[in-house]
Amino acid sequence: MPKQKPSYLKCEQHGKKITAVVCCHMIDAVDPVGFVENSSDPEDLQAWCEECEQFFVSEKDMTEAFVAFNDFAVVCCDCYHDFKEQHSRKRKGRTKSARRKLE
Ligand SMILES: [Zn+2]
Ligand SMILES: [Zn+2]
Repeated sequence: MPKQKPSYLKCEQHGKKITAVVCCHMIDAVDPVGFVENSSDPEDLQAWCEECEQFFVSEKDMTEAFVAFNDFAVVCCDCYHDFKEQHSRKRKGRTKSARRKLE
């Protein structure tokens, strides 16, 4: 079997793009909620927040409860990268002079 082709969607912001999956919390949150990537395949992008990660670890599986909590949303790959920038805790600084926020 050949590798599954990526699926596309038409993003309002970015046009026709490969789909990616994030948890609902990233979409709703204004402050960073963490960004845990579950796939390194650029054609199969999936990520969820730290709370989802903790939930998943305690459930040990993709249980119904987890899926309900996670409430996946399909976004385009550009939006996915925007969420990554917005929610990642470790900032791999593009600008070396970026101000550091101490927690
Ligand atoms: Zn989440
Ligand atoms: Zn987009």
